[in-house]
Amino acid sequence: MPNPQTHPLPQIDRAFRLEPDIPLCQTDLPLDWYQEEFKPYAEEFLALPDREPATVLGYLDRYVVPARAHFGDSLLLLAHFYMGGEIVKLIEHYGGGVADSYKLALMARESPEKKVIVESAVHFMAEAIAILANEDQQVWITNPKAGCTMEMMAKDDAVDPVADQLLERYGDELLVIAYMNTSGRLKALAGRTGGSVCTSSNAHLVMRWALDQGKKVLFVPDQHLGRNTAHKLGVDPSLVATLPDPRQGAIRVDDASIEGGTAALDRARVILWGAFCGVHTIFTPAMVEYWKAQGRTVLVHPESPLETVLAADGSGSTDYLWNAVMRAPRGTKFAIGTEGHFVRNARAQGALCGMDVVHLAEIPGSVAAGCGCATMSRNDPPHLAGMLDLLRRGEAPEINRVLAGDTIDEVTMRRQRLDESERAELIRFAQRSLEQMIRIVESPAID
Ligand code: SF4
Repeated sequence: MPNPQTHPLPQIDRAFRLEPDIPLCQTDLPLDWYQEEFKPYAEEFLALPDREPATVLGYLDRYVVPARAHFGDSLLLLAHFYMGGEIVKLIEHYGGGVADSYKLALMARESPEKKVIVESAVHFMAEAIAILANEDQQVWITNPKAGCTMEMMAKDDAVDPVADQLLERYGDELLVIAYMNTSGRLKALAGRTGGSVCTSSNAHLVMRWALDQGKKVLFVPDQHLGRNTAHKLGVDPSLVATLPDPRQGAIRVDDASIEGGTAALDRARVILWGAFCGVHTIFTPAMVEYWKAQGRTVLVHPESPLETVLAADGSGSTDYLWNAVMRAPRGTKFAIGTEGHFVRNARAQGALCGMDVVHLAEIPGSVAAGCGCATMSRNDPPHLAGMLDLLRRGEAPEINRVLAGDTIDEVTMRRQRLDESERAELIRFAQRSLEQMIRIVESPAID
């Protein structure tokens, strides 16, 4: 049987190193947060004497090593950069990959020999992998309760009626760009309108592609990424309209509900859905100025507000932020405005290369210091151990299986699953918008 250790994933080179003297830090979850099937693994983990790498690896080895031997080279473990420090290091330790959402989405397609894909991140990321997967590739998520709060503010039953009203008003002139942080159902909406998916690293390419066709863009769900991208492309702010806060209830496209009335929408080149990420909207220009005055280079993620992005020295995706730190001259001092676990990992790994990294929100008097993505961190070592052991024994709970079109209520764990013909149609349109993004990104004519 092939040895996964000898088959590293070619496109991933993160190298989070496990250091014996750096404890693995992630808050333990209460036992009643685990699915019944996962509780024995959680009880064993919670009873461990400490969180030192040797202790955690001794626990995980009992489950991960037999699973890797059982599945051989057909097993692929994946995590996103924003996972707690334990998971990204452990996934890499066991031969898996840690990447941003764009690279994660391509994993199944680029690795057809991987038949069992186990993802430790949020649900939309696993679903994006499933949309592009071949029929003989299964995608599993270690904790189905790991949702993205931004994506939760843009469920299809809220967005579709608004998109219908806008399509009725603007017809073919309107095109939907769906950020990767959306369900497959919204990616399919983008595909149906001739639009595209985008990520934070390529949003400017995708929006430029749409505007160059003379289209009016409905950008979902992150208003900040949409606004920052429009600004980067030189779109006049008066031509950017923002829809009402989706938490206030159903949105009507009429003069009473829309700021500036329907005239603002008619004028707009870019219409923003009103969702946002609670992790990234805490960053302020004052935080940027504080750290700049201390001689630090300030970099932020473009899910942050526009005024913060404009004050910073640079902004970009997680891949951009990670590479900026790891490739900087030794001794460079950074303040990074993004998810807390990522910054903690960048701090630990950067210190090994002579960098000094702080979290942007860690200024005197701030109550938001080091804020992490709480929902993503619902994937932890017991979830990984349990998922792999249950899969090896053929007893994995079906709720952990991810198919295109699935939606999960992150509180009740109630799932809506499409029937086969509905799923086939969703895959057709969602693939269309994902493939459109890939074509735009991989076109040699654009930067
Ligand atoms: S950091 Fe924000 S946008 Fe990213 S997964 Fe978490 S809630 Fe969603």
